Amino acid sequence: MKEPGGILLVACYELGHQPLAVAWPAAFLERRGYRPALLDVSVEPFDSEKVRRARLVAVSVPMHTALRLGVAVAERARAVNPTCHIAFYGLYATLNAEYLLSRVADSVLGGEADEALVELARNLERARDDAGGRGQAPGECRSEQRGLPPAPRPILAKLDFPVPSRTQLPSLKKYAHVDKDGRLELAGSVEATRGCKHLCRHCPIPPVYGGRFFVVPRHVVLADIRQQVEAGASHITFGDPDFLNGPGHALAVARALHAELPSVTFDFTAKVEHLLRHRGRLREFADLGCAFIVTAAESVSDTVLAHLAKGHTRADLIEALRAVRAAGTALRPTWVPFTPWATLDDYRELLDFVEAHELIDAIDPVQYSIRLLVPPGSLLLESGAMRPFLGPLVQDAFYYRWIHPDPRMERLAGDVAALVAQAAEAREDTVTTFNRIRHLADAAAGARPRADLTLPPGRTRPPRLTEPWFC
Ligand code: SF4
Repeated sequence: MKEPGGILLVACYELGHQPLAVAWPAAFLERRGYRPALLDVSVEPFDSEKVRRARLVAVSVPMHTALRLGVAVAERARAVNPTCHIAFYGLYATLNAEYLLSRVADSVLGGEADEALVELARNLERARDDAGGRGQAPGECRSEQRGLPPAPRPILAKLDFPVPSRTQLPSLKKYAHVDKDGRLELAGSVEATRGCKHLCRHCPIPPVYGGRFFVVPRHVVLADIRQQVEAGASHITFGDPDFLNGPGHALAVARALHAELPSVTFDFTAKVEHLLRHRGRLREFADLGCAFIVTAAESVSDTVLAHLAKGHTRADLIEALRAVRAAGTALRPTWVPFTPWATLDDYRELLDFVEAHELIDAIDPVQYSIRLLVPPGSLLLESGAMRPFLGPLVQDAFYYRWIHPDPRMERLAGDVAALVAQAAEAREDTVTTFNRIRHLADAAAGARPRADLTLPPGRTRPPRLTEPWFC
């Protein structure tokens, strides 16, 4: 197992970032003498040779898209190397453990799983030694489970974090760039915390982390930033689920970043509630190089926000927008416009809100098409408000089906999804796409079409990353 490539860590999709979810376990494994190989199938072809050499193939599935790709990768890996042990780890592995273990996985590890992955490698090594050095028989791992329980609970223990190991990963050039005033520059990504202390009902994090989050020591975060800046990054995304879960830590990290690398800009994600609670610190974040802040606004309907237990209202969002702008940075809201409780009027109201608050250029059009995802384990499954709309679990697609009570919203969701996919392909101007979506929504409501909005083609847009997907 300690030979080069005896373990293969596979990333499938990490929002267009160079995958931290394999770079970190790689560092944990290297610290114990393993020499894992890495593969990121979002930017590299499937590598049969690497798979053939591996005795343990660990697939990282931090999000839904990654899981869908990861299952296909694991099936290919099993075909190429029938005796390897296949493990899944990451948020969506835990949520779908039962299905994965019954189909394609020998092990599933969840939560703070990096050290558990090292332990798994050790267990496999020991089992092989006990068997007198003979290779594993096909299916042996699955039947024996290597002493692991079939669907382990997420691990919520504080880890001793090493600096992520990125040397084997593809160049940052292959990943999302930051767009600053129309200039594309290399971007890196780090995490200063993992997990989240909140319990929003639609989010996949609470079922795994149960309201807990873990702080990564400042020197580790700084070292990870440094190695990506040395590789060419001029901008860093803090990929924490919510950077302001630990506001003192966040500020200390941002101060240290700016003190050492003053030209490097950054962005982070924070909930509306945090932006308001820490509004007094927003100016300093901007002065330290914060180019923009992403916030999961989700809706401008207070009814929908209450069903999601988001902890903010429409009025709060307006206030947060004002505070972020006053501090001299940009806010990029993300939305979940299609939920069972959002009416067609709500949808049109959302578009009006975006226009009225001059947010058209701050929102990636895909955001107007996002439909509520209810994965296994979701807190929404316990919500009485969700029950009337809930259908069966679509096991191999990893979500519960739900139907909107208004068929016009079902049709609109499909039409908007097709429109934004085609617009992204054609690299259409955001205002043109916005106008087309508004026409669709007005037509669905039987309203008279409105005149198109215009924005100057050469205008300066708020900074953004070139990868708009987020789940
Ligand atoms: S939506 Fe954001 S704030 Fe809410 S639980 Fe998820 S990560 Fe935390």
